[in-house]
Amino acid sequence: MKNIVLFGPPGAGKGTQSEFLVEEFGFIHLSTGDIFRYNILNKTDLGVLAKKYMDEGRLVPDSLTIDMLKSEFVKYVDPLGFLFDGFPRTEAQATALDRFLAQEDLRITAMLGLEVPDEELMSRLLERGKVSGRPDDANSEVIKNRLAIYYKETAVVQRHYENQGKYIAVNGVGSVKQISSVLKAEIGQF
Ligand code: ADP
Repeated sequence: MKNIVLFGPPGAGKGTQSEFLVEEFGFIHLSTGDIFRYNILNKTDLGVLAKKYMDEGRLVPDSLTIDMLKSEFVKYVDPLGFLFDGFPRTEAQATALDRFLAQEDLRITAMLGLEVPDEELMSRLLERGKVSGRPDDANSEVIKNRLAIYYKETAVVQRHYENQGKYIAVNGVGSVKQISSVLKAEIGQF
């Protein structure tokens, strides 16, 4: 069973590439951003709580995020493998993930990090904002805040998996197809 973390800053292309990888490998896709947005749409208690953080480009608190991810994770019986997208985003989340996978005798196979320069991320997110209707893509101040938080809190998660010898850098600039084929080859080796 392969369990992959797809990693990278906001706008790196995690969502786009996840669709391809789910199709290709049959992964269960666990995207914390998607789950939060689903909860916001349905006005659940979790959605109401998460919305105020997300709209400002801040991270939802760890305890909420970890509990939510765990309760999604346990829904699947005998999965082919998990693709974690947007999680873990802090050191505490990474530690929690390793721990609850270990309880099921599972582990992360690899973290694939999509690497994209900031100027490119900014322009992709502003473009996406024109069509996505996502409040957190709507203006450059919120986007800057998300990038700053990424470097401050999330970038360390890369080191967490580097220390385990599991980090693989992937150039996130290029055509969607080119990047998909690199990801496919990397995952295929396990
Ligand atoms: P992006 O990668 O483009 O920022 P996501 O859909 O992954 O988009 O996340 C959108 C927002 O959802 C984040 O800015 C954050 O507020 C919240 N969020 C998603 N995943 C997490 C997480 N693991 N921990 C805390 N907050 C999260």
